[in-house]
Amino acid sequence: MKTPKPSFAVIVVFAAMLVGAAAFASAQEPLTVAESSQYKSTSLYQDVMAFISALQARSPLLRVETLCRSAEGRDVPLMILADPPVSSPQDLKQGGRAVVYIQANIHAGEVEGKEASLMLARDILLQKKPAVLDKLVILIAPIFNADGNEKISKMSRPQQEGPENGVGVRPNGQNLDLNRDAMKLESPELQGVVQNVLMRWDPVLAMDLHTTNGFFHEEPVTFAWAPIPNADPAIRAFMRDKLQVAVEARMRDVRKIQAILYGEPMDFRNFDKGFEAFGAEPHFFTNYVGLRNRLSILNENYNHADFKTRVLGCNALLESVLTYTHDNKDTILKLVADADRAAIVRGLNPMDKDRFGLTFEPKPVERKLTINIWEMEVIPREGGYPEIKKTDRKKTLVLPFFADYVATRSVQFPAGYFISVPDQNVIAKLRRHGLIVERLVQPASVEVESFLLKELKTSERPFQGHWMDKVKGDYASVKKDFPAGTYFVSTAQPLGSLAAALLEPESDGGLLAWNYFDKYLAPQWSRKLGEYPVYRLLKPVALGKEIVQ
Ligand SMILES: [Zn+2]
Repeated sequence: MKTPKPSFAVIVVFAAMLVGAAAFASAQEPLTVAESSQYKSTSLYQDVMAFISALQARSPLLRVETLCRSAEGRDVPLMILADPPVSSPQDLKQGGRAVVYIQANIHAGEVEGKEASLMLARDILLQKKPAVLDKLVILIAPIFNADGNEKISKMSRPQQEGPENGVGVRPNGQNLDLNRDAMKLESPELQGVVQNVLMRWDPVLAMDLHTTNGFFHEEPVTFAWAPIPNADPAIRAFMRDKLQVAVEARMRDVRKIQAILYGEPMDFRNFDKGFEAFGAEPHFFTNYVGLRNRLSILNENYNHADFKTRVLGCNALLESVLTYTHDNKDTILKLVADADRAAIVRGLNPMDKDRFGLTFEPKPVERKLTINIWEMEVIPREGGYPEIKKTDRKKTLVLPFFADYVATRSVQFPAGYFISVPDQNVIAKLRRHGLIVERLVQPASVEVESFLLKELKTSERPFQGHWMDKVKGDYASVKKDFPAGTYFVSTAQPLGSLAAALLEPESDGGLLAWNYFDKYLAPQWSRKLGEYPVYRLLKPVALGKEIVQ
């Protein structure tokens, strides 16, 4: 049968409807590059900026600040979603809203977080999905590593399933891995996020979005809390036992997406040994946020899932975490306020039980990890890493998950640190983290603990531009005279754990390890090693001091 020809008038009306629908869609709902390309492409910096402008034109609830200017001169945008809108953090003092921070693209080859977080912003602003702005203010840095993003290439991460136009590179414009920079703060991006997000807006929860590198499994979304052992234990327990479990359940039951704990096999040749969390080091952004008494989540989307699945999976995870945070806002606000208070109380009078861990061993958490894997074939390759191939043999494994890092060596947590050298690099670095640094206005003669080096080893190759130091030595009680002007960092402040992590001589992420004290450790006129110019005050004493402004 022949289809009757539509009349001209019908065509006009129909065409007008189409144009109207298109105009309505563009007026209401800008699309991300991922969506408009049917998930074949990811966005460039200009696309992200244009998308943000389009949202701003449609919603008064979005403000944009600059997180930092990158090494190559790009302004990295920070989106602020709030209802009513907030022009500064002062506006948040009343009303009890909680701030959440979402960070995408820290590794600019791992791009689905960028697309997923932009979609999330649009849906919250234009469709109230999820409707969370009555209790939350949401900050989004969709393109944190903008310089890396613009070096888009099909050669980047070739093992990853799409997008077809390629992805950016891992390092920033200084060739630094931004997810190793949280303690030394040597990139504009990390300096910017600490100053303009963590210190300025004080988010109670931060999420850092990545893509996995590795083995073959079925679940498209993996995520985990910060396992950093020197951080507040109540926050860690809440994340492990409450938030993680509830968000996994919501992903499964409501969003119909498999989301599991993120970990790596202890032994790639034998998965039965179990999986381990991503590590105890504070240089990871997620752990660093934990060290600052705030909740944080590392999200890793599965690199062998196709791009669309990864974007939608990440978007669903963001929605699920926001919904949980919204529904438990008061509990979370109390949890972080309690952690800040506990840090001050501990620093005011450290007890014997208060320890700072130096080396750790991962112990399994109570809950097991259930994961559906495909067995792999390992094919040796001459002069390189072996090729890993997926087989079609699928297995469900129920495995121990090692994510409780327990200290195997620790020191007494001190009341504070005297810094006996007027080193402005060190002082500026501590203040950049938001630590309160003080200076003696009167000389003080105090019983302190010194650290005398016995061994100083540098790493065999540089790591992030540093020949990292590892030291061994002896702690000794000494009476020491500190002249007026000596710097002092008390641990009786909310960031007391971070102060210890930066200043303990044997801390794996400390300023000593990152070479900030090198010139004092090895005197050039003698073969002996020096004394670490930072002294541990174990019990608080009255000191005449003032805050360094
Ligand atoms: Zn990554």
